[in-house]
Amino acid sequence: MTSSRFDLRGKVAIVTGGNGGIGLGMARGLADAGADIAVVGRNETKSAAAVADLKQRGVKALAVPTDVTDKAAVAAMIDRVVGDLGRIDILINNAGMSIRKPPHELELDEWNKVIDTNLTSAFVCSKLAYPALKASGNGKVINIGSMMSIFGASFATAYAASKGGIVQYTRACANAWAPDNIQVNAILPGWIDTDLTRGARQQVSGLHERVLARTPAGRWGDIGDFAGIAVFLASPASNFVTGTAIPVDGGFSVMA
Ligand code: NDP
Repeated sequence: MTSSRFDLRGKVAIVTGGNGGIGLGMARGLADAGADIAVVGRNETKSAAAVADLKQRGVKALAVPTDVTDKAAVAAMIDRVVGDLGRIDILINNAGMSIRKPPHELELDEWNKVIDTNLTSAFVCSKLAYPALKASGNGKVINIGSMMSIFGASFATAYAASKGGIVQYTRACANAWAPDNIQVNAILPGWIDTDLTRGARQQVSGLHERVLARTPAGRWGDIGDFAGIAVFLASPASNFVTGTAIPVDGGFSVMA
C-alpha cells in the first residue's frame, strides 16, 4: 500500500534540463520509481549520457534536443514525447540559467534571455503539455524556483524576477487545473553543487565558505537530494498538495 503511493510505473515524465545537475537528480528519482523519461536539453552529448544512465534503471528514456525558449521546438518536443512514449503524466520545468549583474548593468537582451529561459519556458511547456496532462487523469507539474524566489541579491536581477515569477505562476496554474486533477507545485533549491554553481564559485571568492556557514545543514546540496521530493510531487502521494513552493535547502530559508 505504502509503495503504491509512490509508484510511477506506466507514467511518462518530461524533465527540461534533465541532462545534468538538479534535473538529472530528479530524473533518476522518477526512473527509480518506474517512470519513463524524456530528457529535454540542448547539449546532445550530455543528453545521450543521461539517457544511458536512466535506461540502466530499467525504464524507457529518450533524448529530445530542444531549446525551451523556442516555442515551435517545444511544440515538436511535446508531439515527439506523446508519439514515442505514448502519454505525458509529469512535466518538470527545470531548465534555467543566470546572468550575474546588478540592475543598472544588465542589458535588455540579457534580461530577456534569463526570463525566457527560466519563466516563459515554463509557461510555454506547461501550456502545450496541458492537453496531455489533462488526458493523463492525474497530471503533475513541478516548477523549479530558487532561494531567489524568496530573497533578493544584487547580482540576481533577472534571475530573482524569474524565480519569484515562477512561484506565482505555479499558484495560478494550481488554481486553474485543480478541476482536471493536475497538481502544480514548485521546488525551491538552496545552494546545490552543479555546473551552475561551480561557475559561480569560480567567479566569487569565499562563496563556498559563506554557503557552508549560512546553511544550517552545514553542507552544499547534492543532486541526489532532489530525487525524493520529485517522486513525492510526481506521485499519487501528493494528490491533495497543490500550489506549494517547497524549499529543499538544508534550512537556508529558515536561518535567522
Ligand atoms: P545546470 O547548469 O547543471 O543545469 C541547467 C540545465 O538547464 C541544463 O541541463 C541545460 O541543458 C538546461 N538548459 C538551460 N537553458 C536551456 C534552454 N534554453 N533549453 C533547454 N535546456 C536548457 O544547473 P542546475 O542543475 O543547478 O539548475 C537547474 C535548475 O535549478 C535551474 O532552474 C536553476 O535556476 C535551479 N536552481 C539551481 C540552484 C543551484 O544551487 N544549483 C539553486 C536554485 C535553483 P543544456 O545546456 O543541454 O541546454
